[in-house]
Amino acid sequence: MLIYDLDLPTLTLRLKEWGEPAYRARQIWQGLYQHLYATPEAFTNLPKPLREKLAGHFSFAPFLVNAQQNSSDGHTQKILFQLPDQRLIETVLMRYGDPADDHENSAAKVRNTLCISTQAGCAMGCVFCATGQMGFKRHLTSGEIVAQVLYYARVLKAENEAVTNVVLMGMGEPFHNYENSMEAIDRLNDAEGYNFGARRFTISTVGLAPQIKRFADERRQVNLAISLHEVDDNKRLEMMPITKKYKIDDVLSACRYYVEKTHRRVTFEWALINGVNDTPETARALAQKLKGLLCHVNAIPLNPTLGYSGQATDRQRAQLFKETLEQAGVPCTIRMRRGIDIQAGCGQLAGASSAV
Ligand code: SAH
Ligand code: SF4
Repeated sequence: MLIYDLDLPTLTLRLKEWGEPAYRARQIWQGLYQHLYATPEAFTNLPKPLREKLAGHFSFAPFLVNAQQNSSDGHTQKILFQLPDQRLIETVLMRYGDPADDHENSAAKVRNTLCISTQAGCAMGCVFCATGQMGFKRHLTSGEIVAQVLYYARVLKAENEAVTNVVLMGMGEPFHNYENSMEAIDRLNDAEGYNFGARRFTISTVGLAPQIKRFADERRQVNLAISLHEVDDNKRLEMMPITKKYKIDDVLSACRYYVEKTHRRVTFEWALINGVNDTPETARALAQKLKGLLCHVNAIPLNPTLGYSGQATDRQRAQLFKETLEQAGVPCTIRMRRGIDIQAGCGQLAGASSAV
């Protein structure tokens, strides 16, 4: 079993079964999440037999680094991790800028934003997304989600830096793997462990309405982003099959419920596709739909993928879309495309070479 799959109470119970005092569990927890130890041997504060026992019962290495790529602008790095069952997942580090607030006109803030995967592949089948194009392989365990963050926490620590933001926007649909995704956030959030503030996480969903409501009821401080991309159900259905199950109005009413419960702003994501969803009429229709909802639109020109022929909206049309939305009262930012040259952009993660 992967040691990162355990929470502190479970680890404490296990240690108790081994006849170890309770403080040992805490020492291990702090070793894992504060000192960022990556192997049992690193726990020099533990007696050797206990270290050996840990090594015998738990895996500390959830994956191998299969490949690592850096974008030509030096801001983005992508790692392809190989899981023990040979499945591949990708994790992306962006050395500044946060998809949640980054736009072309803003002064770049120094941030180390990590984009992590919650599944190998994805079952939602959005046609413009490389992960959707590869289909669903499996859910990641909470420990496999956590371990992606710890990996980069160690890399950055060696450079006297730290992860500043984590977005669950890599491969997979986090609300389709709800429990494991939330457990991963809780584990990283633990004050006695990694202590990563809830507000520094952003979870992005294709719009699973019941899970949005559940998330609202849990009143989490985690930021919520919804991948909307269309205002018309029939058009959205052509791109995003989940629309068959949850209509745009179902998603938006779940969002309204979320804002009522949490008083937190929702982000809507919009991949701008030339001639498809980028006209001023669409922007006005979108503004109409979002009326009175505490929200913000993040528009990003479509990233290329092999399986989809749609083209990105150019800068001028993107600007017009943004201005039209804003004139109608909906704040909008245009996100920069990042890491396109290494297929590390939104929707380009495929664990192989199926992106262009
Ligand atoms: N499954 C979740 C999170 C992962 S996808 C979701 O869909 O929200 C992360 C983001 O990338 C989503 O907003 C998704 O709509 C967007 N995306 C997918 N393919 C894209 C592409 N080709 N270009 C730009 N954004 C894309
Ligand atoms: Fe899955 Fe998100 Fe890609 Fe859609 S956009 S296929 S939900 S990863």
